[in-house]
Amino acid sequence: MKLVYVLLLTGCFYCGAQSEKKEPVRENASVNIEKPMKPEETEVYEPVPPVVSVSAETGIPNDAIVLFNGTDMQEWIMARDSTAAKWYLNEDGSMTVKNRAGDIQTKRNFGSIQLHLEWKSPEEVQRDGQNRGNSGVFIQNRYEVQILDNNDNDTYVNGQVGSIYKQSIPLAKASAPTGQWNTYDIIYHEPEFDSDGNKIRSGTITVLHNGVLVQDHYVIQGRTMYIGPPTNKPHGKAPIRLQDHGDNSRVSYRNIWVREL
Ligand code: MG
Repeated sequence: MKLVYVLLLTGCFYCGAQSEKKEPVRENASVNIEKPMKPEETEVYEPVPPVVSVSAETGIPNDAIVLFNGTDMQEWIMARDSTAAKWYLNEDGSMTVKNRAGDIQTKRNFGSIQLHLEWKSPEEVQRDGQNRGNSGVFIQNRYEVQILDNNDNDTYVNGQVGSIYKQSIPLAKASAPTGQWNTYDIIYHEPEFDSDGNKIRSGTITVLHNGVLVQDHYVIQGRTMYIGPPTNKPHGKAPIRLQDHGDNSRVSYRNIWVREL
């Protein structure tokens, strides 16, 4: 009789354990199903974003700094000696690289920015590879977004149009036909250095070429170098520089504006 009693008890314990195991497990125990959240509990009202309006006529946001609108080159100086910019100012509201005059750069210094500019290669094709319609936008005077006439003109892919020169191959080649205008829209976040000059956060860059994403939040490795690996000397705000590649590339620019981030 005792044995039957023990067996029955053990059986009951076993059944209990089994039924405990079968109890459904709640996926998110922290959610109080008795008191569901209201939509308002995840709504925030501060900070209120500033209102930015865009000109219907020019497409330029009203908080942008216009760096070139075709009337003059007052925002620019020669990079080599800080004298007045000596590139060609054209009647159609563009400016063109003057061969071997040297790079030009903004008088102002910039950190993190949204930058818009338009560029075109000369219609008349001359030379090949890196010597055809080569210019470039150097953000903070050291990180080059390549400009190149790559149409029927292959080169190393980390130096082609839309590349972060010798660092990041573009995701696509979105060039307009040679001699026609291209747009670059660039979102750039500057790197951060500590008081000892060590980089503690890398800069990042996103580039749209004619509206096509070609650089997707790329983490910049350092200064873009023609020879050797990137370097990382500490720096603060710095000019935007446009390149004279020195090979009669005659790249033209127009409609350049920037928003500080
Ligand atoms: Mg270049």
